[in-house]
Amino acid sequence: MSLSDRVVSTTCPFCGVGCNLQLHIQDDFIYRVTSPFDSVVNHGNLCVKGRFGYDFIYNQNRITTPLIRRTPQKPGKRTQAFDLSEWREATWDEALDLIADRLTEIYQRDGSRAMAAYCCAKATNEDNYLMEKLFRALFRTNHIDHCTRLCHAASVVALQMAVGSSAMSNTAAEVIQNDVFIVTGSNTAENHPIIALQMKAAVQKHGAKLIVVDPRRVEMANYATLWLPEKPGSDIAVFSAMAHVILKEKLYNQEFIDQRTENFAEFAASMEKFTPEHAEIVSGVDRNLIIEAARLYGNARNGAIYWSLGIPEHSHGTANALALINLALLTGNIGRPGTGLNPLRGQNNVQGASDMGAMPWHYPGYQRVDDEQNARKFEQAWHIEPGGLNRTLGLTTTEIVSSIGPGGVRSLYIMGENPMMSEPNLNHTRHKLEQLEFLVAQDIFINESGAFADVFLPAASWAEKDGTFTNTDRRVQRVRQAIQARGQSRADWQIVCDLARRLETRLKRSTSAGWNYQNPAEVMREIGSVVPEYRGITYERIENLGIQTPTWDENHPGTPYLFAETFPRGRGKFHPLEDAGMAEMPDEDYPLILTTGRVLEHWHGGTLTRHSWLDDLFPEALMEIHPADAAHLKINAGNAVRVTSRRGSIVLRAIVTQKTTPGVVFIPFHFAEAAANLLTQDILDPQAKIPEYKACAVRVTPADES
Ligand code: SF4
Repeated sequence: MSLSDRVVSTTCPFCGVGCNLQLHIQDDFIYRVTSPFDSVVNHGNLCVKGRFGYDFIYNQNRITTPLIRRTPQKPGKRTQAFDLSEWREATWDEALDLIADRLTEIYQRDGSRAMAAYCCAKATNEDNYLMEKLFRALFRTNHIDHCTRLCHAASVVALQMAVGSSAMSNTAAEVIQNDVFIVTGSNTAENHPIIALQMKAAVQKHGAKLIVVDPRRVEMANYATLWLPEKPGSDIAVFSAMAHVILKEKLYNQEFIDQRTENFAEFAASMEKFTPEHAEIVSGVDRNLIIEAARLYGNARNGAIYWSLGIPEHSHGTANALALINLALLTGNIGRPGTGLNPLRGQNNVQGASDMGAMPWHYPGYQRVDDEQNARKFEQAWHIEPGGLNRTLGLTTTEIVSSIGPGGVRSLYIMGENPMMSEPNLNHTRHKLEQLEFLVAQDIFINESGAFADVFLPAASWAEKDGTFTNTDRRVQRVRQAIQARGQSRADWQIVCDLARRLETRLKRSTSAGWNYQNPAEVMREIGSVVPEYRGITYERIENLGIQTPTWDENHPGTPYLFAETFPRGRGKFHPLEDAGMAEMPDEDYPLILTTGRVLEHWHGGTLTRHSWLDDLFPEALMEIHPADAAHLKINAGNAVRVTSRRGSIVLRAIVTQKTTPGVVFIPFHFAEAAANLLTQDILDPQAKIPEYKACAVRVTPADES
């Protein structure tokens, strides 16, 4: 079949907004990307990544042949190999047989506890469903996770606790129906640029009032009625003080509280101590700003809250998210169009990968693995003997890394992720990856993690395969093959199936469908049979427009906003809160607070964008420092500085800017040569097991003094 001279509709591979793309192709080469003006998600708008960032497909460093390390790697002596001379080319059969043999050997010797896999928020729903199924069904392990653990895990846990559902409650475009909205812990203009356009329209064209709560003066603060420049880690104090004011001034919605919620009295009692005066001391935000913000949100007709990683990426991330949820329940700003609780999901398919069970505590559809009824359901669906699936909660990403070693995880299969960039405390991660007995990487480039692998499997890029992504507002959309896969690269779902068939033979196990799916549409039909929210999703139905989950059956139109009548857990539950701050406070040796994040031109660990011309636009890590701190430290714009925490040290250049607040420095985490996560700490939120990326203590010195 000729794939030339065509325009192919698909979905953007970068952020969770899920913009619709049209790939213009000539001679099997994508030469241009546009977007249709009638696209429901983005109305023809695209950011720089979506419009221009696809050239990584053709980068000369892309790997398109299976590779095997020339020198056998030993636990404790494992090294990184970026140079192709350290690898030899292999056939697919040779590479997959080697993987099947080694994984089988380790499993038969050490059992399911030794096996672990990282699924991938960039891969399709079908890729992720099959990967978690392989490890659960064949290796009987729940040590399966992906980067949701490192971004919104605490939002997911808090939303499950309070309302029983963890996705965005409302459609992103409903922001123009808000009269007041809060944006917190989100640099929306850089990380969800098209949603930011809609937010700007809400303010500028529809007169909505915006409250930004963020330690940085992010671009959205320029559109805000109020900017609350809180210190990192003080969210509970600020948002609970807003609840305190709403309670004191009786701005709450008594009818909603009576009819839709529980635990109000305990919650209200716990808010007594969270006075604006207390919040001012803890957060550094003027108490009058907090009172004003509480009155604005408390009096909103349609109030909504949007948040991103500044809320969950804390050692008390779950409590942070609960503080936001309490506010929505208190004011009844949930369950209607143009209101809601809206965690803006980061990667293109982090919502979908989570829905697909790429997590250690849940089968697909957030069905707990330690629930007997759920386990039996999946045993029947996957044709596994009763009692065969593991009922024990698996390890999360950071726990998988920490557990590597004798008696713990011995082999790791990484599909498309890059823990050597995305995990906190990277020196520790490096030490642990070195201890692995066997490591498989499946990706399109040899990244910092894949360089440790024994076998590298070349995956097809998003433009070279079919499937679906689920965007941040739960819209399941088609991803379409537009060009032939480069070289010998293959779609992730096909690689997983080929490996699974080999493992079934070696382990003498069989499961449903025999891993002989004809296409991803067939995989989606199986997903619909086990995930109630996806029951009505078929490729035929989403051919032109995506559908928002839950989609309960093939006639269900999808769900633009959630919780109209009830919450999945019944009543929404208020949670009393206690104050909590940074796990590592600044001191004499490490006097500044480091917070990390992303920039417009790059995406996460940089595997794609650093292989794109986008890297020319933003080619190096830069540290933002406030002019007052820069003057004190005798640092000028452009100076090289050394940033040191208790865990590591990096050198990069400084930007002196009022975008950050005094005492706080900001570093993006996309750059391996100055990896911000060498500095961050691996202390975890006790409920969600998410690390505290957003706040740790550092020292900054001119690089020539070090
Ligand atoms: Fe892609 Fe997100 Fe940019 Fe849209 S906003 S073009 S989905 S990166």
